[in-house]
Amino acid sequence: MNNVHIMDHPLIRSKMTQIRRKETPTKMFKELVGEISSLMCYELTRDLETEEFEIETPICKTTGYRIKGDDLVLVPILRAGLGMVEGIQNLIPNAKTGHIGIYRDHDTLQPVEYLCKLPSQMENRHVIVLDPMLATGGSAVKAIEILKSFNVKSIRLSCLVGCPEGVELLHKNYPEVPVYLAAMDERLNENGYIVPGLGDAGDRLFGTQ
Ligand code: URA
Repeated sequence: MNNVHIMDHPLIRSKMTQIRRKETPTKMFKELVGEISSLMCYELTRDLETEEFEIETPICKTTGYRIKGDDLVLVPILRAGLGMVEGIQNLIPNAKTGHIGIYRDHDTLQPVEYLCKLPSQMENRHVIVLDPMLATGGSAVKAIEILKSFNVKSIRLSCLVGCPEGVELLHKNYPEVPVYLAAMDERLNENGYIVPGLGDAGDRLFGTQ
């Protein structure tokens, strides 16, 4: 699959196993989502721009590097995407955060925007869209459509679990958007849940099931 990065790393694989287990309690689930999001950051940010500046070690002057973190905006799709923010922000404290809220209309089954609060000057910024589950792909496509209307510099999507149906819809609409997944699962079931998946990510994060 083009433009799909699956993080097949032992640390991620073992933490994903823990969050999939139905007996994993809310507190641990939340911590694991944060930890996996941090670990994914390594690949997700591989091509971020850095700038050079001079520093002094105890021995001599040398060149240091810093990420141009101000250019970066994390955009969690509410509400489950919120669980992924802190893990990334721990590593990139300068990154700003915007929020996009999307619900599915009961009659048309189409995704509808109910909230969009983004930092200023989005045309100068690189965006990481966060959503733990890439299921039908409808919310991700809608979020990217909204972000494209702000002429952002680049968009990448980070999810914990994906499935072929979601990746297909996303790349039918936006083949240029890279997707980063901690795991690619088998399929969607008739209720729109990923199989084997981990259940409802929002409910498990916020203890609302
Ligand atoms: N959203 C979830 O939280 N879980 C799924 O399996 C699919 C969509």
